[in-house]
Amino acid sequence: MNRRFSRSLGLALTGALAAIPASAQNGIPSPQPFTPSAQNVAPGPHGYIRCLTPEVDLAFARSLPPSDCSANATNPAAQYSPANLDEVEILVVFHVIRQNSGGGNVPDSRINSQIDILNEDFGALAGTPGSQGVDTKIRFRLASVDPSGQPTTGIVRYNNSSWYQDNGAYYNTIAWDPDVYMNVYTMGLPGGSSSTLGYVPFLPQTGGGNVGGNSDRVVILNSSVGRNAPIQTYNQGRTTTHEVGHYLGLYHTFQNGCSGSNCNTSGDRICDTNSESQPEFNCPGNSSSCGSSDPVRNYMNYSPDTCMSNFTEQQSRRMRCTLEFYRPTIAQPVGPILGENYCVGVTNSTGVGGTLFGAGTKFIANNDFTLTATSVPANTFGLFVVSDTQGFVPSVPNSQGIVCLGGATGRYNSQLGNSGPFGVIPLTVDLTAVPTANGPANTLPGQTWNFQCWYRDSNPTPTSNFTDGYTITFL
Ligand SMILES: [Zn+2]
Repeated sequence: MNRRFSRSLGLALTGALAAIPASAQNGIPSPQPFTPSAQNVAPGPHGYIRCLTPEVDLAFARSLPPSDCSANATNPAAQYSPANLDEVEILVVFHVIRQNSGGGNVPDSRINSQIDILNEDFGALAGTPGSQGVDTKIRFRLASVDPSGQPTTGIVRYNNSSWYQDNGAYYNTIAWDPDVYMNVYTMGLPGGSSSTLGYVPFLPQTGGGNVGGNSDRVVILNSSVGRNAPIQTYNQGRTTTHEVGHYLGLYHTFQNGCSGSNCNTSGDRICDTNSESQPEFNCPGNSSSCGSSDPVRNYMNYSPDTCMSNFTEQQSRRMRCTLEFYRPTIAQPVGPILGENYCVGVTNSTGVGGTLFGAGTKFIANNDFTLTATSVPANTFGLFVVSDTQGFVPSVPNSQGIVCLGGATGRYNSQLGNSGPFGVIPLTVDLTAVPTANGPANTLPGQTWNFQCWYRDSNPTPTSNFTDGYTITFL
């Protein structure tokens, strides 16, 4: 499913849910219709409020449209088994909210390790603690392109002591389109020594019009992010795994205690997690609170991070169903690598060579491919050139760069770009009109185009340079 198509599906779904009362569309903390349970708001024995994701008001949930993974029930049909589905990927942006002083930072290294942990846990990666679980075939990757099409690390930092305490609708200012990105916010979170570890404001099943809205988010205590995080007990990244489980529609394993006879319509709506009367805070625990062993090692329990090791098959099916019904735009099939860089971008006045970055799809029918020249000097102009042939010409008059194209070269004369303050030049590639020596050409399946960007520079005297080459074969 391509992004444009799936996004229109998402809009249609959002419209269908728009009948939910506005009072249901607020984020946490919101007294109605969500009521955090006593289990949720009491600090655990290790001093932290484990999770502030609100309990679902079931009377409210029953008023919502049915699905195979509603707030009320899970249909664990085989069609939702990851074994029968493609691998999909969710793009992640980490908003690191710090105090005005800059305190409360989370370094890139821990955020990168948190992405690794998500992929280990959701992928049941061999050789990791998550290997005991089921591979959901859901993957996570830090965004490499921001909402304006610019290259990014997927990590953004802000200094704001009010936001740092989870005050104010900061997400209305800084969220990246939540239909496209999973927005994760790290902060101090209030509570002092009984600080909250994390929450999502709603399960997507009960979020109504807020799903895909700015308040749609995952909030994590900064000191619990990543591998070997600074706090005790909750320091191996499982707070994020747990909250992303909620983000994808899972209940706590101890939801509604032992009650209910049909495990797909009571408790956590999952049959292969034994019910339990209360959250498990210790490990191994080995308790049997409802006549069967408690799912101590499940990510949706409250166990210490080192104890957690699995999502079950039915949890995986509920998450895949949730993506289909409630978050149809957020996860995209993991396709083949788009294209690749080749040749050399010679060092320019910025101290590095310019390079090209491709985004979109390689499917001609989608006609959705963009190139961005990065690491070029600021506020200069350049233009893109294209050819079906690669080349290597190191000595070009009036230029310090290398021409990486051969044969007849086409120019994007109508898309002269200015690199602006960040030294990037974007190009939207219209696959129905690629410039060639013989005029605009259609792109055929299996056709390879090679691109390069020429740009002006002063290094130290006026000159020009080229980025490296980018080659891509369209399908
Ligand atoms: Zn939770």
